[in-house]
Amino acid sequence: MGALREKLGSAGISASFIPEAATDLIQSGIAPWTCASMLEFQTRVIALQLERENEARDLAASSNVDVVICDRGLCDSHAYLSDDEYADALAANGIDHAGALARYDAVFHLESIAKDNPGAYTKANNSARFEDADDAARVDERVKDAWSDHPVLHVVGNHADFAEKADELFGLIAQFLANSSDDCRKTSEPVLISACLLGEPCRYDGKAQPCEAVIEMAKRCAVVPVCPEVIGGLPTPRSPSEIQADGRVVDVEGIDRTAAFEAGAREALRIAREHGCKRAILKENSPSCGVNRIYDGSFSGTRIPGKGKTAALLVAAGIEVLSDDALRQEQAIHGKPRTCSRSHLVQYP
Ligand code: SF4
Repeated sequence: MGALREKLGSAGISASFIPEAATDLIQSGIAPWTCASMLEFQTRVIALQLERENEARDLAASSNVDVVICDRGLCDSHAYLSDDEYADALAANGIDHAGALARYDAVFHLESIAKDNPGAYTKANNSARFEDADDAARVDERVKDAWSDHPVLHVVGNHADFAEKADELFGLIAQFLANSSDDCRKTSEPVLISACLLGEPCRYDGKAQPCEAVIEMAKRCAVVPVCPEVIGGLPTPRSPSEIQADGRVVDVEGIDRTAAFEAGAREALRIAREHGCKRAILKENSPSCGVNRIYDGSFSGTRIPGKGKTAALLVAAGIEVLSDDALRQEQAIHGKPRTCSRSHLVQYP
């Protein structure tokens, strides 16, 4: 753990580490041989592991932690239990195997030295280790099997010395983080997008407003395109509208369009919630989608600070809203738009 933390720190990766729950329980006097059964002990291991992971995730989400690394993970308990017992231990903690696997973005299995070089295996450096070399090799195989359903499983074999093994592990984790920083997985974080930014010809003048940064991002993220004005019932093309000082939305002919704009905003929020969108990227300056600026209501091309009807409603509902301008700037600074802000939970047994 120490060596890995140092290497990640040197690479500018801030990590939070969760120590092995079983070791801590055994060292505190709660062990397989003091519990009524291995099932009881593993149920307690899972409970402690879950508590620590949840706490680490909460902390990571509110700080600058890039990755949460667990010394062990929930599925390890399967190595010590029958299939039914494992299911019972998870169920007692309100989770099942699929749910347990889904908690980890990647798994790095370090093969035990007991497997390839039993003579080098020792219990001396871990007071909670109770298996002999043969048992440790068998458990190692069972642990690997326990994670075999995970879609991102890396097996790190034994090297001539442990430093090389640690280097390989660090390289794999760093590579995984580099790849996944651009990879907002399609099922995990859908983003609500102003449809015109994706090339949909839904603007008031019947044209699209494609934004390269948004289109690039959409290749990596699940996106939910919406045009609030269209879903609010307005035709395309339509007369341009602007928000007035009193909050009404009026078109260039003086017709009050407030009801349609507000209906579109409510529908956009409903769609965002239906799809579980926590973020939205909206077109700046629009009376619906403007995030930081809108036109001032005089139809003179003058822009003022303010939000469109939909952007304001999404923000009030707790959805993070970013403008297309902001996304372009971020792309200019970082080379690529950052599409995922969530921390990665990585487990390596
Ligand atoms: Fe684009 Fe939003 Fe205007 Fe629709 S309402 S055209 S999505 S800026």
